[in-house]
Amino acid sequence: MKQWISRLAAVAVLSLGAMTSAQAESPAGMKLYAFTSGSMKLGKGFLQNLAPMEPKIQIPIGFFVIKHPKGNVLFDTGNNDKLITDGTYWGKLASVFEAKMTPEDAIDAQLAKIGLKPDDIKYVVVSHMHLDHGGNVGKFPNSTLIIQDDELTFAMFPDEPFAGGYIPGDAQVLRSPVGTSKPSLMEMVRLEGDYDIFGDGSIVVHRSRGHTKGSQMLVVRLPKTGSTILTGDAAYFRDNVEKNLIPNIVLAYDPAGIVKGYNWIRRMMATENANFFTAHDPDAFKAMKKAPEFYE
Ligand SMILES: [Zn+2]
Repeated sequence: MKQWISRLAAVAVLSLGAMTSAQAESPAGMKLYAFTSGSMKLGKGFLQNLAPMEPKIQIPIGFFVIKHPKGNVLFDTGNNDKLITDGTYWGKLASVFEAKMTPEDAIDAQLAKIGLKPDDIKYVVVSHMHLDHGGNVGKFPNSTLIIQDDELTFAMFPDEPFAGGYIPGDAQVLRSPVGTSKPSLMEMVRLEGDYDIFGDGSIVVHRSRGHTKGSQMLVVRLPKTGSTILTGDAAYFRDNVEKNLIPNIVLAYDPAGIVKGYNWIRRMMATENANFFTAHDPDAFKAMKKAPEFYE
């Protein structure tokens, strides 16, 4: 009976078009790199509801690049580089978060660690458009932006009380000049769901409304390492997933959606032995290989 149920479940999953690690045709030479865009300090209670707000903890701002034979994919873009010289770009938030960003944290300098320039990036995938993830999308005018459609519009005009994390200038640069018929000169894939970027199952966007209206995660199926999920802020720390901890309400647009995201991560861990990489977990980020080191 049990066997029957699990067989039926497997058929149900397959019929939904989901691809597992074993089915993905991940090409040889695929590599995953982790980068930093500086750090900030905030109360842990923002990232795990009911955790203390004092003393503040320092968290990294992580982002990632995947090299694929058909093109390089950037997952998140860090803080806007303007912050290196102009703290006022974030208004009050730069001092509130004690944002630290040096010239070495600039996105060009980070990409240069693996010999890439912004124009070498084919696809820019943003987990969401908050200031520490969508900050530098404007630096990739010749790339294609992959974003959930509702996140794009929300970044331009969010609802209260969720406006704080979106910097108007980060989204504004996406609009084309006045008098141009196309809304953005940058090519865009505006999603309302999941997306298999190269059609081989190796890099797949997973829609996950929760932290923000249009958050998304990225599944990277590496030939040797196996499946790695880049969570963005859909999961802040490892134990958020392990213990079902949701963030403070201002960072939880849809709390039930956040838990659905955790359940999806757990299913991926169970079905294809996936691991996951977060953007801000200090200990997990410390343990991660950083560019120019890589996962393959
Ligand atoms: Zn973040």
